[in-house]
Amino acid sequence: MSNNVLVFIEQRAGKILPASFQLLTPAATLAQALGGQVDACIVGHQVGELVGAVASYGAKTVYTVDDSELALYRAGPYAAALAAAIDKADAAIVLMPTSFMGRDLAARLAARKRAALAIDCTELALDGADLIATKAMYAGKFAAKFKLSAGRLQIATVRTNAYPAPEPQTGASAEAVSIPLTLTESDQRLHVKEIVGTSSGIKDVTEADIVVSGGRSLKSEENFKIIYELARVLDAAVGASRAACDAGYQPHSRQVGLTGKVVTPRLYIACGIDGAIQHLAGMRGSKVIVAINTKKEAPIFKVATYGCVVDLFTLVPLLTQELQHVTAMA
Ligand SMILES: Cc1cc2nc3c(=O)[nH]c(=O)nc-3n(C[C@H](O)[C@H](O)[C@H](O)COP(=O)(O)OP(=O)(O)OC[C@H]3O[C@@H](n4cnc5c(N)ncnc54)[C@H](O)[C@@H]3O)c2cc1C
Repeated sequence: MSNNVLVFIEQRAGKILPASFQLLTPAATLAQALGGQVDACIVGHQVGELVGAVASYGAKTVYTVDDSELALYRAGPYAAALAAAIDKADAAIVLMPTSFMGRDLAARLAARKRAALAIDCTELALDGADLIATKAMYAGKFAAKFKLSAGRLQIATVRTNAYPAPEPQTGASAEAVSIPLTLTESDQRLHVKEIVGTSSGIKDVTEADIVVSGGRSLKSEENFKIIYELARVLDAAVGASRAACDAGYQPHSRQVGLTGKVVTPRLYIACGIDGAIQHLAGMRGSKVIVAINTKKEAPIFKVATYGCVVDLFTLVPLLTQELQHVTAMA
């Protein structure tokens, strides 16, 4: 086994998930410490033109597994493709984003390769050649370190925004290696017939750089309009507390928290959300947190970077209006 670190570049319909580029940062540190190099792997259909973009973020060799069977994500064929790239790269460590695809694929891949696996890591380091993965535990109250012993393949998925992406270098190039797809019968048991996307045009909370969330205090689905208006100006995703989702104001696909989605955006704006421990579990890793709440004792203020003790129905439309002014002037 070499000392190379392989990064899985997640793409859908030719669009690379930005969190994939962030993986190149810890990959470079780990590869340097091990004396190896950073490689990347792109799996999909007609993905050849993505190689240049990946090279600019520092990958030395970019492996592509390009096949019409890989046009839509399926764990079996994707795991087979990535396993082939791991063999070709002779990788010691594989990094993947903690996305829906990353979680699903990492588990399948680890079983297939009999590898050690750590999911949703916030920090990666080395102890000799052993990989030390830090993970948030108990709703983010504790950080636990796990040792993945060297000598077998080590796979880690990394939480979005845990690391910044490296600065892309114009003119950087990588060796492009194409790997043919070979599938067994068991790789192809599951078939995807159709993928139905959401029609709102608003981003998913796990993919956005900015999230504006509303709580039960919005009182109705109709009132969530002001949250959507602010989100549009900021090019943000809309999130919600479980109480707001349970009340039917928002679909559960927008729920942030322990039993919802975990988000780590650059900016999280919590509008009329109390800050129950189960909600904090899903957003306390955000870089900057703005809380808007009428109750100054609300627990959300304990994790907030900026707190506004004010009625959200007054502040949110004002904020939207001001931001519209600023964007129009820019
Ligand atoms: C097993 C389990 C799992 C859970 N998982 C989740 C989860 O994943 N995500 C989640 O969110 N919750 C989860 N919960 C529920 C959680 O405990 C809380 O009940 C929920 O987060 C409360 O939502 P809320 O803050 O919107 O509502 P509330 O608790 O009703 O708080 C509303 C807040 O809005 C403020 N407010 C009221 N009016 C205004 C106004 N006009 N302007 C500004 N502020 C105003 C109030 O002061 C209050 O702080 C879970 C609970 C359990 C038991």
